[in-house]
Amino acid sequence: MKATKCIKVPHNEADKIACVFAGYRWMFNEGMRLGAELNITSKRRLYEAIYGKLEQDIHSHYKSSCIFHAASTLKAWKTNLKKGHCNRPYLKKQVAKITNQGYVINGNILRIPTRPREYVYVTLNEYHLSKLAGRKTGEITITPEFIIIPYSEDKEITQSEKWVGIDVNYDNTTATYDDGTVKKFDTSPIRRARQIMTKTMSKVRRNDDRVRKKIASRAGKKCKNRQDAVLHKISKDITSTGHGIIREDLKGIRNLGRRGGGRSKKARRDLNTWPFFILFSMIGYKALWAGLPVIAVNPYDTSSTCSACGKKIAEEGKMVRCMCGLYVDRDENASKNILAKGQCSPRLGTQVKRCGSAPALRVDACQFLTSVSEQ
Ligand SMILES: [Zn+2]
Repeated sequence: MKATKCIKVPHNEADKIACVFAGYRWMFNEGMRLGAELNITSKRRLYEAIYGKLEQDIHSHYKSSCIFHAASTLKAWKTNLKKGHCNRPYLKKQVAKITNQGYVINGNILRIPTRPREYVYVTLNEYHLSKLAGRKTGEITITPEFIIIPYSEDKEITQSEKWVGIDVNYDNTTATYDDGTVKKFDTSPIRRARQIMTKTMSKVRRNDDRVRKKIASRAGKKCKNRQDAVLHKISKDITSTGHGIIREDLKGIRNLGRRGGGRSKKARRDLNTWPFFILFSMIGYKALWAGLPVIAVNPYDTSSTCSACGKKIAEEGKMVRCMCGLYVDRDENASKNILAKGQCSPRLGTQVKRCGSAPALRVDACQFLTSVSEQ
């Protein structure tokens, strides 16, 4: 399987690349308009239909990337249309993409074309070169500040002997390893960063859209940086120990239905802004890079069941108490249940070895069936 990672290379050539941004934006928006008119979402068909109609004074390698970019945006837009009304996306940002046939990396110099036979040169440092050495590079994305270069490698996912179950909450992420160790990662800085952003925006009194936008974008960037730092740290830690990963399948968590299923406004805000999917995608690509399997299990009942005996439990603040005598942290209990649920998942095959201290008493349908057939 192809595993991909990216590096971000800063540059100071925004003035020289400005013509590329303008041309790319025009081509993209024109491509979107034509594609919507002709009702095409296939990359190849869109390419054939509109290639001749997009004439701009930039290097022609941008054109194919731009058409493919427009085609995938059209496809996503069509899917969104089925869910409800939404306007056709319009590219406002300064951005451009170019395939690996368009640029050249020679030594530590990255050469990017702007117009035919005109180039800009960006120097790569040792860190960048160490990441790119001997690996395939893909389609780069150019912004006024950075050049994002993806690099990929073929990875095999090995069947894991060791597993870790992860329970994700608003204020912490709990990981239980199958040797019994429990790790708690504090994620409250994410919520705090969001609160700071909301406060900053609520303090703005200027009734000027341009000023508000500028402040909002600065506050949002700061918030995202803080959030990403926390999430990268967690995902790196979880994927660095060589354990296969079992996580909750949170599909549909944002579909709260009318009035949010009886939740308060604050609870809905927390639920809808917590970056579950960003954390899971980080864990996903880092696990793939390390060759580790990731399994998503249905989180139903994992927080309300005892991890030792499988009965319903009573919550006592942040702890849970069971009739069988178990008295542990609420999140620890949930992550143990997730680990146990994943370990008896049929997707694991027969290679699972359960460790002595791991809770496996919770009877799942699949486990039940095998134990019956063995008897
Ligand atoms: Zn119990």
